[in-house]
Amino acid sequence: MQFDGYLPEPCVLEPEQITEYPDHLELSEELQEQLKQWSVPQAAEEDMDPDTYYDCVLSNAPGWKVGGWPAWNSTDPRPRPCSECGTGMEVLMTVATFEEGDDAGNSWSPYPHPGAGPYPGHRGYNATGVQIGSGYRQHLFVCPAKPEHPHIELMT
Ligand SMILES: [Zn+2]
Repeated sequence: MQFDGYLPEPCVLEPEQITEYPDHLELSEELQEQLKQWSVPQAAEEDMDPDTYYDCVLSNAPGWKVGGWPAWNSTDPRPRPCSECGTGMEVLMTVATFEEGDDAGNSWSPYPHPGAGPYPGHRGYNATGVQIGSGYRQHLFVCPAKPEHPHIELMT
């Protein structure tokens, strides 16, 4: 197949509404400092690294999603102005290689459904079989002022 890794495998779609927050790098220095103080006891309770606790547990949910915040795993945040009108672009959707990662603790585990369990052909945290780069995510940004303005993408 010419596009092996880009064509999703048939799988069950069970959307859930979640709340996530901006990457810590998008917050003010004052808020970052408050988060640092808050993360120490929180991370200790869950035996996690306080330096990455917020981003792993509250910030960017892994997996495919509509809306939400971009993950800045491989680059620093930078403004994404619309090429037509200059409005700051927002994430329309994210296509992800993995639904949840080893560093995400249990906060992003899918909501358990009664009777749900492993099904034939279950592929764990890569149910779609889609592979973005070496396990990355692909964000599609859209202009919130005029959706018909050109979209941009970012792989993180
Ligand atoms: Zn625009």
